[in-house]
Parts: sequence; structure tokens; C-alpha cells
Amino acid sequence: MTEDRIQKANPLQLAIFKEDLEKNIKSLSANLHKLPSGSQQFIRSICEHYDTKDWVSDNQAIWLAGANIYLNNLGSYEEQEAQKIYAPEILQLFRSVGNKISFPRIRYWLENGDRIDIYPSSKTNHLLCYVYNDLEVSKQSKIYIAKISQLDALVTFSTSVAELYKNQLKELFQEPIEKLKINGREQVQCCFCGISLQSEISRAVGYGPICADNWGLPWEKSEEDLLIKL
Ligand SMILES: [Zn+2]
Repeated sequence: MTEDRIQKANPLQLAIFKEDLEKNIKSLSANLHKLPSGSQQFIRSICEHYDTKDWVSDNQAIWLAGANIYLNNLGSYEEQEAQKIYAPEILQLFRSVGNKISFPRIRYWLENGDRIDIYPSSKTNHLLCYVYNDLEVSKQSKIYIAKISQLDALVTFSTSVAELYKNQLKELFQEPIEKLKINGREQVQCCFCGISLQSEISRAVGYGPICADNWGLPWEKSEEDLLIKL
């Protein structure tokens, strides 16, 4: 809005325009560092122009509004990033297996008797997470709940995933090895291949010696394991 047009504008419109403009300038001045480095100086000069002259041209106002829209989108992008869930340790476990076994699988029993299994997709570069219900019944049902990218460990939940399973997976992803060990101990079944654990060491660590070797995990009783041992 040029000086000339400011003088002709109706006072209410002008007040609204100035209020918006000042809000824009205030938020821009505080967040200049978040703008692409190439436009920081340019936007700063417009803000300074307004500070000293109390008006900006229409084009300058459009530039300010554009920069502000950029910042707002950046905010929601950062929010989205913060909400993303990654499972790097799970990915690392499967990477340590490499080609040692053809069908690597993690088994994670839940308190309600269901079991979450994680294993590589045969078609895509993902680790798939399924829930197995009614494990006692011969005709088990299998529900897809999430996948983990083998490129960056990003977790994508199924849109229909039940909150219970989502939370269980989130907990597992935070400290998978510890959770799996406890789970294997409680079930007295190997948290990888699922066979029943025979020896004292296997029962203490939650998996058997062959799986320990395949998954690159220690197979010995640590003091900590003995303390937790059921
Ligand atoms: Zn095993």
C-alpha cells in the first residue's frame, strides 16, 4: 500500500491492514533465521523499511505475507516431523541377521493373549507388523497393523490400527531388546523363533543360543538378567 493510497483508504480498512501487517512483521522479525538464507536479508530490509517509514508498498506487503505463509507451513511441517515414529533398533536387529536365516521374525506376546509378529515383507522394502489373534484356535486371524521402512526406520501405522496395538508397538520400539527379553522370559518361549526355552541361560535371557547367534545378541547370564529372572 503506497503512501498515497494509505491517505485515501478508509480508516477501518487501514486499521485492519496495519494490524495484519504488523502481526506479519512481528512474527517475521522473530523468525527471520528460519527463512531460506537467500531471502532473509530481503525480508529484513522490508521489515526495517516499515519500522522507519511506517508503510510498505503493495508488493512488499505481498512478500511479507508470502514469507509468513512459508513460516506457518514450516511450523506444521516441524510438528509432523516431531510426531513421526522411528524404529531404528528393530531395523538394526534385522540387519544383524542379514542372510543368516531365511525367515527372520520377532514375536511379542501381549497380556491379552494376542501376539505381534514382525518380519520382512517379501514384496517391499519394509518390515511388517501383524497381530495374531486367537492363538489357541487353529484358524488364527492375522491383522496388519504397521510397517517399518528398511531405508530410514520410519514407522507407518495402518489407518485402522487399534489404539492398544499402536501403544504396544510404540513401547516395543523404544527399547526393543529389553522388551523382547522380558517377554521371552515371561512366556518361556524364544522371542524370535518361538520354541520353548530349555536351559537356565535361555530362560534368563529370553531367547535360545541359536537365535542369539543369528541376531547378534549375547547368550550369557548377566547379573542384571539373574536379578530379573522369574
Ligand atoms: Zn529362538
